[in-house]
Amino acid sequence: MKINENFSKLEQNYIFNDLKIQVERQKERGEEIIDLGIGDVKLPIFPLITSAMKKACDDLSDKKSFLGYPPAQGYPFLREKIAQNYLLEGANLNSDEIFITDGAKGQLGNVLELFGNGAKVLFLSPCYPAGAEANLLYGNDVTFLSGNQENSFIPYPPYAKNYDLIYICSPNNPTGSAFDHENLKEWIIYAQNTGAIIIYDGAYSAFLPDGYPKSIYAISGAKNCAIEIRSFSKSLGFTGIRCGFTVVPNQLKNYNQLWKRRIGCRFNGVSYVTQKGAEAIFCAKGKEEVKKRINFYKTNAEILKIALKNKNLWYNNTVSSPYVFAKTPKGTTSREFCKQMLEKISVVATPGSGFLQGGEGYFRLSAFDTRENILKASDRILTL
Ligand code: PLP
Repeated sequence: MKINENFSKLEQNYIFNDLKIQVERQKERGEEIIDLGIGDVKLPIFPLITSAMKKACDDLSDKKSFLGYPPAQGYPFLREKIAQNYLLEGANLNSDEIFITDGAKGQLGNVLELFGNGAKVLFLSPCYPAGAEANLLYGNDVTFLSGNQENSFIPYPPYAKNYDLIYICSPNNPTGSAFDHENLKEWIIYAQNTGAIIIYDGAYSAFLPDGYPKSIYAISGAKNCAIEIRSFSKSLGFTGIRCGFTVVPNQLKNYNQLWKRRIGCRFNGVSYVTQKGAEAIFCAKGKEEVKKRINFYKTNAEILKIALKNKNLWYNNTVSSPYVFAKTPKGTTSREFCKQMLEKISVVATPGSGFLQGGEGYFRLSAFDTRENILKASDRILTL
């Protein structure tokens, strides 16, 4: 049997491996490393959630309330809460259009099972690489459209060209730039005119300030041309628990039915305990907790920006992101600069080149950390 030759199209992870080796070496020397590289959350899960999960465990230990396999699409109790919350985001969806998942990453590639092979796929970049890599593995034809400082990393549709699928992430990882109503409307019209499907990654939607669409379905016409992928990882601290959801609207051809068929043969659902934990957040107290946590991370980002400003380093000044996307000093590649940061001040940053086309010349700092670590990292940046 031949291997999948598309593996050769994936970038080797040498950029990250290099930095990892360097981090280990410095740790062995006893240095205190502050890791603002990987976008993993550092603060614990809200007690409101863990209490609901403990109660769910009790349910399972009782013969009368024990449950086996969950419904592959997700329990109605969680899908209905999500549908009600969508109304507050200006989107009217039926719980039948919502599919509970084990997070967003796998979904960025799983959705490709809805489409034929060899699709022409456009990625607005720089971007989180998982979707592009999944498409390369499928043998799809991947093209990038890079944003830049001039267009605030929000590119316009390439009107003269056609694609089958378009991946958009808002707010974007790594740049933090967010699409407003007008920007999204433009892409929706372009998708409708060209017959493309938008795969909308809203993994960071909780970070959007008021006035920005939290869902692509807040814009008319989106239900005919978009699939939305969301995650509880960053808003609820669920990077370890694993839960999110994907929306495949009924108006989108026959894809909703096909997706049900697909999960019927490929997925056995997300655990009851996990879904009960996620459900607990859909109340006034839960929403207040999430808002506070998001504001905490965003304040961290502002603290990092002050340090970068002092060093005369350009950064993308958005207010919708747990990341700071900044420019390396002139003449320094993103990889070189991240190595320098690590060697000189023991702070890990992610090289922009890891975020595919358009990322070279930039670096990303994650603000998902304790205030103590962020303040320490900022002090260290000032000594660079
Ligand atoms: N999409 C983007 C843009 C991300 O940055 C991430 C994780 O960092 C994901 C999706 C994956 O999230 P999850 O933890 O839900 O798999």
